[in-house]
Amino acid sequence: MKDLAATPSVDMLIVGAGFAGLYMLYKARSLGLNALVIEGAPSVGGTWYHNRYPGARVDIQSMEYSFSFDEALQQEWHWSERYAPQPELLRYANHVADRFALRDGIRLSTRMAGAHFDEAAQRWTVRAEGGQRWSALFLVMASGPLSSPNLPDFAGLKDFAGPVHHTADWPHEPVDFSGQRVAVVGTGSSAVQAIPIIARQARELTVFQRTAAYAAPAHNAPLDPEFEARIKADYAGFRARNRRMHGGFGSLLPPNPVSALAASAEEREAAFEQRWKIGGFAILGAFNDLLLNEQSNALVAEFVRGKIRSTVKDPRTAQLLSPTHTIGCKRLCVDSGYYDTFNRPNVQLVDISRAPIERFTARGVRTGGREFEFDALVLATGFDAMTGTMLRLDLRGRSGLTIQQKWHAGPLNYLGLTIAGFPNLFNIAGPGSTSAFTNVIVAIEQHVDWIADCIGHLHAKGLSTIEATEPAEAAWAEHVNAAARRTVFLSCNSWYLGANIPGKPRMFMPLAGGFPQYAERCAQVARNGYEGFVLA
Ligand code: NAP
Repeated sequence: MKDLAATPSVDMLIVGAGFAGLYMLYKARSLGLNALVIEGAPSVGGTWYHNRYPGARVDIQSMEYSFSFDEALQQEWHWSERYAPQPELLRYANHVADRFALRDGIRLSTRMAGAHFDEAAQRWTVRAEGGQRWSALFLVMASGPLSSPNLPDFAGLKDFAGPVHHTADWPHEPVDFSGQRVAVVGTGSSAVQAIPIIARQARELTVFQRTAAYAAPAHNAPLDPEFEARIKADYAGFRARNRRMHGGFGSLLPPNPVSALAASAEEREAAFEQRWKIGGFAILGAFNDLLLNEQSNALVAEFVRGKIRSTVKDPRTAQLLSPTHTIGCKRLCVDSGYYDTFNRPNVQLVDISRAPIERFTARGVRTGGREFEFDALVLATGFDAMTGTMLRLDLRGRSGLTIQQKWHAGPLNYLGLTIAGFPNLFNIAGPGSTSAFTNVIVAIEQHVDWIADCIGHLHAKGLSTIEATEPAEAAWAEHVNAAARRTVFLSCNSWYLGANIPGKPRMFMPLAGGFPQYAERCAQVARNGYEGFVLA
């Protein structure tokens, strides 16, 4: 038996030094807690450390995708582009770590292996892969909803002689595709950003597409100094207005409060066109029911297919690139020249929707009875989203209950934040919360503030543990399901549903009910003395 007395003790152990972990550490310290962050990577930055593939940038505008908790921070930081590129986002994470003197509370290159709840001590014993252990009163999972890359079990992948790079685990040394024949598997948000850049560098690019993607133009550009000054003149007001928006962003362009079905064909076309020119997610707010009603959705989907047909010169390629599923059902991609890239003579598109990849070979891949040869392979195959990272851990709650047992049919929790049987464990921006449908930094700030208030409440009452009840959890699962049923999100095979991972239970994981409603519900639970929880 290990000597528990020798195990260092902290008030709060935080897993992950991305935006969630950094803000949680800052906030914990402001409560006077002794908190420690462990981070598997050798750097802070989380998603923006790992996802450094060519073209990686945020799909929410930079002035919105940043912390709001400190007025001086938001005033002094300057974004160079409308949509910040990955290196700048990583610099921002590092700046936050330095500016708030957080580094001495962060252990880098320290990956969590597991944590067991010790019922006698009412504390978590947390273990890192390197064998280090800590005893913690509170355990906060700030490990991110999209942090476990999905590496499909492709036959023969090991036989491929050239380099294989995953977009979510990109090398930290420069990757030069000049003069090479490159293959990309996948056409989600990561691929849509990477493909135009790889195509400009490589000799040949072959894209293997299972499902065509809807992409709206980013119209990325240097940040307009007048716009920046206007926002900074009332940054707090801008943030507050954004928090009242469905996704925690976009208050400058609210959704048109009219059904697409109530508009004439000309009005619809004009509204779609206007929003397409603005770019990004604006198009999905052209009417108020595009993500709620399949008929309305079909109208905007056809508008985007029209854009694809008018951009891509080869009609067969244009048709292959034209998605047939409901738009927005998989997260809309935000692109810079994606469809136009397929007009280049060095780019070819291979449809693998009917004939999947059979196997990789030393020189390439076999699919549909054909063999394709290339020098380097890029897997843009996404993530085991929302649950993948937690389910890889040896995480045990009360009575040795494992997270794998608890979540065997899908992620159960209360408010997305807490899990019955796992006292004092909080999960930031995970399943059951609006994370994936929200400007995630807004979601992170709301979660961290809620956790801090909750711990403050426990302290004020002389209590030390909080645990969700099973009835509250069951009711929350129904709430998350009901919110999804009111949308078009159940109509395709997305990572929201776990459908991208063979064998993963199909359960709609993020909460589609709107950020303001969700935040109010969390606040109401707290105001009502943490109803649905047992406090002890
Ligand atoms: P993704 O959206 O899940 O896309 C993965 C792609 O790989 C899909 O085209 C998928 O096809 C394909 N794929 C997966 N397994 C395959 C297999 N066995 N055979 C063939 N194709 C396969 O992943 P992602 O592009 O990394 O994006 C994930 C999420 O991260 C996004 O939805 C977004 O939330 C976030 N993200 C955001 C940005 C941004 O713009 N800021 C950039 C990147 C990522 P199917 O569609 O048929 O499954």
